[in-house]
Amino acid sequence: MKESPSQALQQTLKDLERAYINFFSKRAQGWGEFRWQLEYKMTWRGGILLAVPPHSTSRICTGCGHLSKDNRKTQAKFECVECGDENHADLVGSINILERGHRFLACGE
Ligand SMILES: [Zn+2]
Repeated sequence: MKESPSQALQQTLKDLERAYINFFSKRAQGWGEFRWQLEYKMTWRGGILLAVPPHSTSRICTGCGHLSKDNRKTQAKFECVECGDENHADLVGSINILERGHRFLACGE
């Protein structure tokens, strides 16, 4: 029986979590191996791996788009100096990376 897109995504996320834990627990493997595993698992599950430039992704507000190094209060805390939007910096970075991927797929930029 074929997996639904939701089941495939959940399984891919589990695979990624396992690969991530494996990567950091062994520390013998490099980022190249991690990336290869990521691409392999995504392709195997019918997805694609799209690499986007990561620069400033944790400094851009997901609420108003304001970019400032001052938005990043600490390693973990994001607080926009323009609109006051707050979140975990890793989540902000993830949302901005996803948005860049969507923009690249839709507009090629
Ligand atoms: Zn903002």
